[in-house]
Amino acid sequence: MAPLTISEYPPELSSEEEQYLLSNLKDWSIAHGLAVRPAPSFVSSSQDPSGVLATTAPVTLFPSLFPRVCFEAGLALQTAYNELYAAIARDERWLQGIVEELIDIDDFVEKLWQTHLAVKKEGYVQNLSLGLFRSDYMVHSDSSKSDSSPGLRQVEFNTIASSFGGLSSLVSALHRYLLTIDAYPSSTAGIIKAEALRQSKSTSSLAQGLAAAHKAYGTSRSGKPLCVLFVVQDPERNVFDQRHLEYALLEESGVRSFRLPFHRTLTDTKLDSDRNLLYAPPNSPSTEYEVTTVYFRAGYTPDDYPREEDWTARLQLEKSRAIKCPSILTHLAGCKKVQQVLATPHSPHLKRFLPDESVASRVLETFAPIYPLDDSEAGREAKKLAQDPATAVRYVLKPQREGGGNNIYRKAIPPFLKNLPETHWPAYILMEMIEPPPLRNAILRNGELQRGGVICELGVYGVCLWRNGTSEDDKGEILQNWEAGYLLRTKGDQSEEGGVAAGFGAVDSCCLV
Ligand code: ADP
Ligand code: MG
Ligand code: MG
Repeated sequence: MAPLTISEYPPELSSEEEQYLLSNLKDWSIAHGLAVRPAPSFVSSSQDPSGVLATTAPVTLFPSLFPRVCFEAGLALQTAYNELYAAIARDERWLQGIVEELIDIDDFVEKLWQTHLAVKKEGYVQNLSLGLFRSDYMVHSDSSKSDSSPGLRQVEFNTIASSFGGLSSLVSALHRYLLTIDAYPSSTAGIIKAEALRQSKSTSSLAQGLAAAHKAYGTSRSGKPLCVLFVVQDPERNVFDQRHLEYALLEESGVRSFRLPFHRTLTDTKLDSDRNLLYAPPNSPSTEYEVTTVYFRAGYTPDDYPREEDWTARLQLEKSRAIKCPSILTHLAGCKKVQQVLATPHSPHLKRFLPDESVASRVLETFAPIYPLDDSEAGREAKKLAQDPATAVRYVLKPQREGGGNNIYRKAIPPFLKNLPETHWPAYILMEMIEPPPLRNAILRNGELQRGGVICELGVYGVCLWRNGTSEDDKGEILQNWEAGYLLRTKGDQSEEGGVAAGFGAVDSCCLV
């Protein structure tokens, strides 16, 4: 068979080849837990009354082609990004400046800030913070530059509930397995080869981050055994992604952890007089644990706070002595407004947090143009771009929200703004769309194959543990900082959103070219 060229990738499969690949992919996925709970629209609760069913996670059949230089640059930059966001989270006064611009027009940011102030009033009793971060990028070829070599542009930086670390390690192992069993046609031998496939160590590496915080917490003060608490949504379809971290934490570090549905916080946890966070497992409430680390996989969206007591719950966790991943200030550092302020041309902010100029300039190179929608000069200019249908098509409008499904894209921007009082526009940022080079792949989702043009988003995980400062002179210090593997998410090029859990994308792995 003639070798496939990169522009012909991925190969067409005969029906026998497709059958062989799919049956191996499906069995491997379930056997290894590359899985999600089925969508209610896919399996009704009457078909699965006791919730025992799982299905393969949406994955790509082939590893997507990814420029080697970009991949390596993204991973190499992660410790600098960890340092940047850990420094922002330690700078309350600077964050306050950001929050003040949002507080009157964004209830969620206001509630988070009030929660911080309420803890501060009583005094923080834990000065360590943990970040399990993920910096997301797309490949961008700058046609205005003469060499037009591809570079990375940052989509966003996640400081809370950065997901898919557990499944990402598996999908890279799946693609390697499919190569090993000759499920890819021999015409791809020059492209899909062991040396080009990048394994993601995210599961183990993120779990080691939780273990590092657990250890740094020190000994039990209440005399009760220690544990880590995963604060989760309920129901959670992406439960296995989280379970893989939990299992790695137990198997590799011997650390016990529990899953706490966020809405049960006030039922299952309490603070003792020393503000130790005590957790009573519902199956055995008399055996209490002292929580060393609260890992939030919930609490990042207003939907998680339908009742006022959900804010009381967040406050209880924040007030406790447990190390938070993330703390409220770290959560707020992930606001898209922060990204926009950092990306302001010639701004002093990046230098403030990254004093080493060469590090700061490498970070700066990954920023896409982002504008405020306020009354500053840049803001007034951006308002014009956003309202004009001819220019709006090059942009995405983002509120200060996480978890996918919140953005307004391209031609939808002008009518959206028309219906929004102008006083609320500063709650959004306007970002230039990154236009990655065209690629193709096939996605298996709910048993159905979708083939065609795709867009890939590279996420690089980072672990950072730091001590917060105690005074003007003491800015705190970083205790642990490492790059923690990667995620590749791939979506059809007709979809603006890329969320895997939100139903738009698939987990993928990199085949470097
Ligand atoms: P969220 O925090 O909700 O994940 P994102 O900023 O990551 O918000 O946006 C969601 C999705 O929208 C991304 O995964 C990506 O597919 C798309 N997107 C966001 N910003 C851009 C951009 N500047 N260029 C191209 N696509 C973008
Ligand atoms: Mg996000
Ligand atoms: Mg995102």
